[in-house]
Amino acid sequence: MLQSSLINEIKKIVGKENVLATLEERLCYGYDSTPEAFLPDLVVRPDSAEQIQKIIKLANLHLFPVIPRGAGTGLSGGSLPVKGGVVLDLTRMNRILEIDEENLVAVVEPGVVTSHLQEEAEKRELFYPPDPASLKTSTIGGNVAECAGGPRAFKYGVTRDYVLGLEVVTPTGEILRTGGKTVKSVTGYDLIRLYTGSEGTLGIITKIILRLIPKPEAKETMMAVYERLDDAAKTVTLTIKRGIIPVTLELMDDLTIRCVENYLQIGLPLDAEAILIIEVDGPADLVKKQTEQVAELCRASGAREIKIARNEKEREEIWAARRAVSAAVVQIKPTKISEDIAVPRSQIPQMIRRLKEIASRYQLNLVIFGHAGDGNLHPNILCDQNDPEEMERVEKAIGELFQAAVELGGTLSGEHGIGTMKAPYLKLETGEAGYEVMRAIKKALDPNNILNPGKIFGSERNG
Ligand SMILES: Cc1cc2nc3c(=O)[nH]c(=O)nc-3n(C[C@H](O)[C@H](O)[C@H](O)COP(=O)(O)OP(=O)(O)OC[C@H]3O[C@@H](n4cnc5c(N)ncnc54)[C@H](O)[C@@H]3O)c2cc1C
Repeated sequence: MLQSSLINEIKKIVGKENVLATLEERLCYGYDSTPEAFLPDLVVRPDSAEQIQKIIKLANLHLFPVIPRGAGTGLSGGSLPVKGGVVLDLTRMNRILEIDEENLVAVVEPGVVTSHLQEEAEKRELFYPPDPASLKTSTIGGNVAECAGGPRAFKYGVTRDYVLGLEVVTPTGEILRTGGKTVKSVTGYDLIRLYTGSEGTLGIITKIILRLIPKPEAKETMMAVYERLDDAAKTVTLTIKRGIIPVTLELMDDLTIRCVENYLQIGLPLDAEAILIIEVDGPADLVKKQTEQVAELCRASGAREIKIARNEKEREEIWAARRAVSAAVVQIKPTKISEDIAVPRSQIPQMIRRLKEIASRYQLNLVIFGHAGDGNLHPNILCDQNDPEEMERVEKAIGELFQAAVELGGTLSGEHGIGTMKAPYLKLETGEAGYEVMRAIKKALDPNNILNPGKIFGSERNG
């Protein structure tokens, strides 16, 4: 609990209307998009790096945790106040400060909603590619802190590939600026990479300089339907082998298709084992040629039907199916455990086989969808967190699926981060030495363990 004198001091920094202290208000900031929830002691809504700096200085003096929060769409528990403390809601800092068309950069505050930046860029014939499926809600600050990806990562990369500069309030209350509008910079250590994906544990991001690119001239979207999931996975590897890099190569398995169809009733093929949603973009004549090539590859690997969107409405219908997945799959059971493994693309068929085998052995409902083009699958286990026996099986299955991903040369998390959900498994991938280097970085930058404690490393060491 924070003392009332301390709360009054915080009110002086941000204004009393930006401090939320009632139980009802605090409850609204205790959850993210995982099944867990914790109650913060206070919610503070700052408007500038200087206000944040003052709050961090107080936190070091009085030793209370500070948890940065964007829109709370995180899928690994990153913004959960697991040890109480102050949740810093950054959504008031939502200004696009500049879109510099000469240098192809945008300068934004962390609370800008991802789709808002994309719309503003597109009005100027520019393009900000990272597109997490949560983009209508998620913030750029949250995207940088998680190094968010999305369907377009296959061709265009992830958030990290667009961050040119950052302003950060450090865990000890300094304001640091790194990078800038230049395309190149090798001045000292690459702090931008360190902060990008640091999940709010190493600093609070207060300004972001992002690279923009010219908007592609044309795009085509298609859906390929498969009777065998294996054939869909084969299409991915075959396409890449041919040197074609579509913008997206999204996979949905049979159970996912059935859930989405039941939810939206848009005529998805209920007897199919998988569908792929494929988009290509670029100069109009190249797009036309690549669409034909990709359709041919789909047929060659066993697709029984290929639907190419003829207009914007049909394109939207295809994407509506993909975007509805998260909401649709909870029809099976109320608790959704979303995993986020990524494997080298050639290992996708093998990873899918391992996932199916694990789910069947533990008798669990598993749906598989995700960004197959970049090897990033989202196996989601649908279960009931009020059933302890089932949750025990879920726990064991998760351990095995991480193990399988690492054995196949993959990673625990392609884009959602470690947070609380994957913290117990971190060493599986980093090994002891990698883990200790990461711990040493956290300790050096945040000696009082103020910023987002209980994340990444698990509660026993980072608590
Ligand atoms: C339906 C759905 C679909 C999704 N699809 C995708 C997808 O396709 N790809 C993908 O990558 N993710 C996806 N996500 C996950 C999530 O949207 C992303 O991780 C997103 O980047 C989180 O942004 P946010 O603003 O909601 O951050 P939050 O959830 O509020 O926070 C996430 C983490 O960032 C930290 N943080 C937030 N702001 C700052 C800041 N300014 N400075 C420092 N740390 C900060 C928090 O402490 C926390 O650790 C999806 C989530 C949902 C619910």
